[in-house]
Amino acid sequence: MDLNHTAEEDALRTEAREWLAAHVPAAPLPSLETAEGFAAHREWEAELYAGRWSAVSWPERFGGRGADIFGWLAFEEEYWAAGAPGRVSQNGISLLAPTLFDHGSEEQRARVLPDMASGAVVWAQAWSEPEAGSDLASLRSRAVRADGGWLLSGQKTWSSRAAFADRAFGIFRTEPAAPRPHQGLTYLMFDLRAPGVTVRPIGRLDGRPAFAELFLDKVFVPDEDVIGEPGQGWRIAMSTTGNERGLTLRSPGRFLAAADRLVRLWRERGEDRGASDRVADAVIGARAYQLFTYAGASRFAAGGEMGAESSLNKLFWSEYDIELHETALELLGPEGELSRSPDGWAEGYVFALAGPVYAGTNEIQRDIVAERLLGLPKGRR
Ligand SMILES: Cc1cc2nc3c(=O)[nH]c(=O)nc-3n(C[C@H](O)[C@H](O)[C@H](O)COP(=O)(O)OP(=O)(O)OC[C@H]3O[C@@H](n4cnc5c(N)ncnc54)[C@H](O)[C@@H]3O)c2cc1C
Repeated sequence: MDLNHTAEEDALRTEAREWLAAHVPAAPLPSLETAEGFAAHREWEAELYAGRWSAVSWPERFGGRGADIFGWLAFEEEYWAAGAPGRVSQNGISLLAPTLFDHGSEEQRARVLPDMASGAVVWAQAWSEPEAGSDLASLRSRAVRADGGWLLSGQKTWSSRAAFADRAFGIFRTEPAAPRPHQGLTYLMFDLRAPGVTVRPIGRLDGRPAFAELFLDKVFVPDEDVIGEPGQGWRIAMSTTGNERGLTLRSPGRFLAAADRLVRLWRERGEDRGASDRVADAVIGARAYQLFTYAGASRFAAGGEMGAESSLNKLFWSEYDIELHETALELLGPEGELSRSPDGWAEGYVFALAGPVYAGTNEIQRDIVAERLLGLPKGRR
C-alpha cells in the first residue's frame, strides 16, 4: 500500500477544500427526515452538482470528475471535515448508480444519473418486505408481464427516505415457479407517485418519518426501467450490496471528522479525565478504519474486489458509530439526551443505533466473515 498522495489527488483535495469553505451552509440544514429539511438537502445536492462535487468518481459526461477511488476518499475527507450536510441522494449514489454502471444500459445511465446527481430525482431502496429482510430471497412482491412493461404488486417496507423521495429501485418475483427462491427475480426502477403506489411513512424512534412502507397495486413499469435481464435480479442485487456495506455508505472521512468533533467537545467540557480513554479510542478507531480502508482500496485499485471484506467494514463502522456517540452523550451529560442539540449528537445517536441492522444485520455479516473470510463451516443459514 502506497500512502503517498498523487499530485492529482492533492489538487482535487485543495480544490474541494476551497469550494467547500465557500459553499457549506453556515448553519446546519434542518433534518432531512422532515419535508422542509428534505427540500433544503435537495437544494444542497443541486449546489454540489453545479460545482461538479456531487459524484466525483463518475465520468464527466454524467456530471462527475472521473476521480479514482483515492480521489473519492480524499474528497470525502474534505467533505466531512468541512461539516457539510448528510447526503439525501445517498441511496441512489451508493447503490443504484454502481448497479447501473455494472448492469444498466447506456441509455439508462444517461437518463437516470444526471438527475440523481443534481438531486432533481431522489431515490429510495425498495428491497425489504415484511417477511423478507435478512432472508431477502424469500421476497414475495411480484412483477407480471404487461404490454410494453410490467405490473408490480406487493408490499415493501423500511424504505429509507421514501416518505419524501421520487423514485425507487427494487427486486421483484417474475417467475413464481422458479426452482429456487433467488431465481426468477427482476431488478426494476419505479415512480413513487405512479398510479397504484401508496406510500405510508413510518416514524423513527424520534417520531420523524425516516422510512416508509410501500403498497403496490398493479403499478406499471415500462421495459426501459428493467435493469439487466429479467430473471437476473438476484445476481445484480448481490453485486451491489458490497458497495453499501463497504466503502460508499460510510467513508472513513466521516468518522475522522466525527472523532475530531468529539475531541473538540472533550476540550470544551474541561478535558473530562473519566472519558479520556474513550475519546482516545475514538480517535484511534477512526484512524484504524482509515488505514484499513486505504489498504482495501489499494487492492481494489489493483484489480481485486471488495467481496466479503466489505462485511468487515460494515461491522467496524456500525459498532464504532455507536461507541463514538455514546462517548459524546456521556460528555454532554443529561443535556445531551434531553435536547435536540444543534450539534447533532442526539440525532446521530438515534441513527447510530440502527447501524447494526441496516445494510444487512451484523449477525449476518459475522456469518459471512466466518464462512467466506475465515473458511469456517456453514452455520445457521
Ligand atoms: C435505519 C434503517 C434503514 C433501512 N433502510 C432500508 C431501505 O432503504 N431499504 C430497504 O429495502 N430496507 C431498509 N432497511 C431494512 C433492513 O435492510 C432490514 O431491517 C435488515 O435487512 C434486517 O431485516 P429484518 O428487519 O426483516 O430482520 P430479520 O431478518 O427478521 O432479523 C431479525 C433478527 O434475527 C437475526 N437473524 C435473522 N436471520 C439470521 C440468521 N440466518 N443467522 C443469524 N441471525 C439471523 C437478525 O440478525 C436480526 O437480529 C432499513 C433498516 C433500518 C434499521
